[in-house]
Amino acid sequence: MLFSQVAGQEEIKRSLVNSINNNQVSHCYLFEGPEGMGKYELALLFAQSLFCLNFHDEPCNECKNCIKVNSLNHPDLHIINEEGKGIKREDIDDLISSIYKKPYEADIKVYIIKDAHLMTPQAANTFLKTLEEPPGDAVMILMTVNSNLLLPTIVSRCHVHKFRSVSKETIMASLKDFDGQTAELAAYYSKGILNKALNIVQGKDDILKKREEIIKIFDRIINNDSEIIYELENYFDDEKDNIDSIIEIMTIWIRDIMYVQNNLENLVINKDYIDLLKLHGKRMKANSDLIEFMQNISNDIKSNINYKLAIDNMLFKIQEDFK
Ligand SMILES: [Zn+2]
Repeated sequence: MLFSQVAGQEEIKRSLVNSINNNQVSHCYLFEGPEGMGKYELALLFAQSLFCLNFHDEPCNECKNCIKVNSLNHPDLHIINEEGKGIKREDIDDLISSIYKKPYEADIKVYIIKDAHLMTPQAANTFLKTLEEPPGDAVMILMTVNSNLLLPTIVSRCHVHKFRSVSKETIMASLKDFDGQTAELAAYYSKGILNKALNIVQGKDDILKKREEIIKIFDRIINNDSEIIYELENYFDDEKDNIDSIIEIMTIWIRDIMYVQNNLENLVINKDYIDLLKLHGKRMKANSDLIEFMQNISNDIKSNINYKLAIDNMLFKIQEDFK
């Protein structure tokens, strides 16, 4: 991979490349930001660049080190918590037992620690001791969704790079070769995460397909009696892992209906469904509190309330607010 192939995060890329060019590589980095911002991609690319024998603003992708990193087979590249399941004291003990030894093949060792906030307190304390006396030939790259979840003493010893979301305009500009409406939907649903927007327009992320499915289901819910709620039980059971996206899609749909009811069609997101939105707009109660209700259901589900009950409540409420 190349830095120029990673979308966005220009400032971070420049800083990483400069640190190699100027021989000012830190021993510990912290990449902070939401999922899908390219933290892991960039951590791997940075590791590859550190190992590359012919680095010149970009790794060469041809030397033996590049080839081994690209296939995740470099013996001096250590990825901790690859599965994202948690980091125990033993994992950090393993790290320590290798970090003070010589590298196998390269001049350095690189440690990528995914979801570093998942360290148990014992693991974090042990790790902190390593950070206090880091060996000169090791580079550690910690990744986290939120640095507040880490020990402040760990954060203060790292060079922090915050991955920021990208504006809708920047996303739209980088999607200019794609169909306008699809690009707009992707820009909206990606919530400022460029990689996600790209995946959506390229069909690697199926949120737009899900959107069509959910709009059809929503239409069925308000056009049938309570029987449909029982019919949909299996569907929602199977979709438990996607419920966040489903509630989001429904919420955007309901908000669009409100825009239509208030003659604010220019603000509608689901522009390709404007006729259906108008039909639904004629039937939804004025001053419906459905959006707030959906938010509460989403919170209930996150706090592990009975899932089936929460879904039933949601579907009954939708029916109630459409006459
Ligand atoms: Zn190389």
